[in-house]
Amino acid sequence: MQTRRTMLAGFAVSALAVSARAETPALYWPVITNHPDWNVISAQPSCVRLRCFGASRPVSRLENPSRHHVGVDLFAHAGDAVIAIEDGVAAGFYPFLRARTGEMSYALLIAHAGYVANYGEVRAPARVSVGDAVTAGQRIAIVSDTAQLHFETYAPGVARNRSWPHGAPQPAGVIDPTPRLRDLAQRGARVLP
Ligand SMILES: [Zn+2]
Repeated sequence: MQTRRTMLAGFAVSALAVSARAETPALYWPVITNHPDWNVISAQPSCVRLRCFGASRPVSRLENPSRHHVGVDLFAHAGDAVIAIEDGVAAGFYPFLRARTGEMSYALLIAHAGYVANYGEVRAPARVSVGDAVTAGQRIAIVSDTAQLHFETYAPGVARNRSWPHGAPQPAGVIDPTPRLRDLAQRGARVLP
């Protein structure tokens, strides 16, 4: 009888734990910011200042020749904390884009279940190293002088961001992050500064 009671109690506890996890999916909005436009997810047809996915960047700049925008730019302030939207593993960190102030911003790739996210235009050093496991809501980086989070998503296995030359078809492995961001804005926890 003693053994049987213990087994039953153990079963009950594990069933409760599974139930609690299912009801509270750990999802977070990726930036801790008080920017008034924090949840603006620019998308076609009313693309705000070319911040949406697929926007055609008309002006050729030294490090940014004419191309389509592979991510969605989220409003933030320089210095805001960037957090993991869900559990994952850090998969890449390297120079990405120079801000107008001259500061070099970085790409931080996190492999999540079923996709890879580029938390782009963050400062060095990141708060995680490549290969580190990260948990949902963990602080992973800081927004750079570009004062935005350039958020991209890719198919699993992608370890570098991909560029999308003007007029070319959408590159293989690139996923439009707009639906995921809309879902995060609805269901994800927003952490305030
Ligand atoms: Zn961008």
